[in-house]
Amino acid sequence: MVFDAAGVKGMNQAGCGEAKTNILFGKEKNPSSIEPKKLTLDSKIKFRCHPGVSCFTACCGGIKIVLTPYDILKLTQRLDMPAHDFLHRYAQPTYLEKTDMPGVMLKLRKEDNRCPFVTPEGCTVYSDRPTACRYYPIGMADFHEGGSYDESGVENPSREEKFFFTVREDHCKGFEEDTLWTVGEWRKDQGVDVRDEMNKEWLRLVMRRKSFGLQATLSEQAKRMFFMASTDLATFRRFIFESSFLDTYVLDEETIQTLKEDDVELMLFSFKYLASTLFGANTLTIRQEKIKEKIARMKQEQDNSIRRSVREYEELKTQMAREREKTGIR
Ligand code: SF4
Ligand code: SF4
Repeated sequence: MVFDAAGVKGMNQAGCGEAKTNILFGKEKNPSSIEPKKLTLDSKIKFRCHPGVSCFTACCGGIKIVLTPYDILKLTQRLDMPAHDFLHRYAQPTYLEKTDMPGVMLKLRKEDNRCPFVTPEGCTVYSDRPTACRYYPIGMADFHEGGSYDESGVENPSREEKFFFTVREDHCKGFEEDTLWTVGEWRKDQGVDVRDEMNKEWLRLVMRRKSFGLQATLSEQAKRMFFMASTDLATFRRFIFESSFLDTYVLDEETIQTLKEDDVELMLFSFKYLASTLFGANTLTIRQEKIKEKIARMKQEQDNSIRRSVREYEELKTQMAREREKTGIR
């Protein structure tokens, strides 16, 4: 139900390029559970998980499950709970993929260190379980030499190379079952494809941040915005409709209406907004008058600082002239 990507990082250290895998999952103490074999969508695996296995729900504890924005959206809809309450009750903060990007992970129960949704009968949110839970035991890595950005910093998804791998943990008896799948069939059955599509742009933001390294700083305001848009769509919606957002960005009427009514579209839009505001991506159009205002403001600030340094220079000259008069030294 969870996979650890540390083993893949091991391959990375061996010089095979950059792999992005462990953003959502982690049982950080057990990298050896990843099988060192690259799988494709057509590779075959023998696996079945069902309530009859002796290890049923053994994998739902002692884990780190990072929640994607789509996971949060589906779980809040399922539990009929505002995101704010959900986060308070079921989530705890974390940093994503060893960056300074703030995110959340499921908060395990204090009493037994297990997922808050697991019961002896199984997962109580099964059809809306998080992405991480759907992957197990097939992990996916995006593997590419030098990252998915070209030399000029422009994103180039064609540099990405996806592959899959299995995670075999001792407690998981699903591998002893007889059902044969291709990796593609398994992913489809688990609804992973849909989740991947929903999470894609958000994951790209995190990986992009990671590729910049910690030398490039992200302002506190930018981090807050990323967290808000990634975890609480109701607040993001208020930000769009109750701030100067619509005076700043060009959006057509149809888009505005969709953002009012459709949570998934709102979430996908938030990724575009974040790409534009955090990384300057060309995903949204800023109104011309706002650009002009900004340029005028920057020019004004520049003029003010030039005036200030001229003034300071003149004051310094006057002061030096006075000193010379007083001391008689030229
Ligand atoms: S959400 Fe469901 S499948 Fe995932 S860890 Fe919790 S109980 Fe297990
Ligand atoms: S078979 Fe594996 S995935 Fe299924 S419950 Fe057991 S440990 Fe979890």
